[in-house]
Amino acid sequence: MNIQTVMVIGAGQMGSGIAQVHAMAGLNVILHDIKKESIERGLATITKNLTRQVEKGRVSEEEKQSVLERIITSTELLDAASVDLVIEAVVENVEVKSKIFAELDQIVPPSTILATNTSSLPITEIAAATSRPENVIGMHFMNPVPVMKLVEVIRGLATADEVYEKIKALSLKLGKTPVEVNDFPGFVSNRILMPMINEAIFAVYEGVAEPAAIDEVMKLGMNHPMGPLTLADFIGLDTCLYIMKTLHDGFGDDKYRPCPLLRKYVKAGWLGKKTGRGFYEYN
Ligand code: NAD
Repeated sequence: MNIQTVMVIGAGQMGSGIAQVHAMAGLNVILHDIKKESIERGLATITKNLTRQVEKGRVSEEEKQSVLERIITSTELLDAASVDLVIEAVVENVEVKSKIFAELDQIVPPSTILATNTSSLPITEIAAATSRPENVIGMHFMNPVPVMKLVEVIRGLATADEVYEKIKALSLKLGKTPVEVNDFPGFVSNRILMPMINEAIFAVYEGVAEPAAIDEVMKLGMNHPMGPLTLADFIGLDTCLYIMKTLHDGFGDDKYRPCPLLRKYVKAGWLGKKTGRGFYEYN
C-alpha cells in the first residue's frame, strides 16, 4: 500500500508544518484539531509560508494553490476512517495521546499506520493503547518542519520492519533525512538537547548570568546557531517541561529534574514565543 492520504492530528506549531510538507509532496491531507481557531491559525501559517516561497520564486502561484487544495480540515476524529497514515501532534501528554490512539484504533482500517510526533514519550506505551502495536511508530519532526531536514524515526518494541521501511520511504519523499532510533525516553534528540536547555535555565535561576548572556556564550563559544534559552522559548516552555518530566520519570535519575524556574514560568503561562513571553518578550 502506498501512503497517499494522511490525517494530521493537532494543527499547532508542529501539526501545521507537518500538514504543509505532506501536501507539498503531493499527498492528500486532513488537518484535524479539536479547536476550530487552531485549524484557522494553522492554515494561515501554511498560507503565509507558501506565499513567502512564491515571493522567493521557489514555488509557483499555481503550485501554492494546489498545495492548499490538497489540505482539507476536520474537527471529527471519524474523518480518519479511510486514511493510510495518521500523524498525531497534540500536546506532549501520554494520557491524551494514548486516548487518541485507542479511539483511532476503532476508526481506521487495519492497514493504517499510526504515527506520533511526540518529542519524548514512550512509543511502546502509546502503541499499547491500540490492538496494532506493530503499526505504531514515532515520526519526530523538528521545528520549523518545512525547514528542518531531520525526521527521527522511532521504533516501538513491536513496530514492524515493513512499517519502519514505509515511514523511512515517506520521509525521503518529503525531502527529509530519516534517522532510525530505538524507543528510550527523549530518544536521541531530546535526551541530549533538553538537559542542556534545563542547565541553561538553572544558570538563570542561580544568577550565573542573564538569559541574553547565556545565549551569547553558547552562540559565540559553541557555534550554536541559536542560544538554548531562545530555543526553549521557540520550542515552548510547556513542551520543555513535559520532556524533562518524561526523562526524569523514565530514567528515575535526578540528573533530569526540571529546574524550578521552568516550572514557575509554565505555571505563570509564560510558555515562550507562542504566548508572547518566556525568557524573552515577543510582540
Ligand atoms: P501546540 O500547542 O502548538 O499544538 C497542539 C495542538 O493540539 C493545539 O492546536 C491543540 O488545540 C491541539 N489538540 C490538543 N488536544 C487535542 C486533541 N485531543 N485532539 C485534537 N487536537 C488536539 O504544540 P506543538 O508545539 O505543535 O507540539 C505538538 C507535539 O509535537 C507535542 O507532542 C510536542 O512534544 C511535539 N514536538 C514539538 C516540537 C516543538 O519544537 N514545539 C518539536 C518536535 C515535536
